[in-house]
Amino acid sequence: MNNIIIAVDGPSASGKSTVSKGLARKLGYNYADSGALYRAITWYILDCRIDPNNNAAVIKSLDDIKMQFNVLNGVVNFLLNNRSLTSEIRAESINKYVSIVSAVPEVRELVVKWLRSMADCGNLVMEGRDIGTVVFPNAYKKFYLDASSEERAKRRHNENVPQSESMSVKEVKESLSNRDKLDSSRKIAPLRIASDAKVIDTTSMDIDQVVDKIASLL
Ligand code: C5P
Repeated sequence: MNNIIIAVDGPSASGKSTVSKGLARKLGYNYADSGALYRAITWYILDCRIDPNNNAAVIKSLDDIKMQFNVLNGVVNFLLNNRSLTSEIRAESINKYVSIVSAVPEVRELVVKWLRSMADCGNLVMEGRDIGTVVFPNAYKKFYLDASSEERAKRRHNENVPQSESMSVKEVKESLSNRDKLDSSRKIAPLRIASDAKVIDTTSMDIDQVVDKIASLL
């Protein structure tokens, strides 16, 4: 496996997705969103009416998940039990539980295995929380994107996703902050800046500026 991996990590709504997609397009690499897989598992658990706090039940449910991957127009897509998941994995109910589900070691082990297999399909820009620290510690380049909590809440609130329609910026900020706290404090693969990552504060930058900055650093 000699494909080039670029890891983009950072807290919720730090601009990782848009920047990683733009960067992948610019470089002609594939793009993968690791958070979508944790969200998809959380969606499945809630859809099966399994208690996300019941670790044993969560772990058991993993046996019933069949994930298929394909690359379309430079984006790594997935089907969970033959079903394509889009806006349903962005709902506030998923935001609420995804950090609990993603802290289960067996869940992480499975997702990390899936993520590593994506490197076989070509050069890759992958975004997440532990891509540079755990999934691909030997990634060619690592970036850690951050922004002020106010700016991140505003950005998420402005996105056209279902939950932003009924939540205030303050509520979005609280939801992000809860998730960041759980993601940073879990025992396995917490959100951390890799020692060899380049940190970029995107608070006062637009997407193109961040993509250009990363491209110039590469
Ligand atoms: O990136 P996104 O906000 O969609 O990620 C959703 C959740 O998935 C995160 O809050 C975190 O709990 C989990 N996640 C993770 N490791 C990753 C990517 C996401 O634990 N590499």
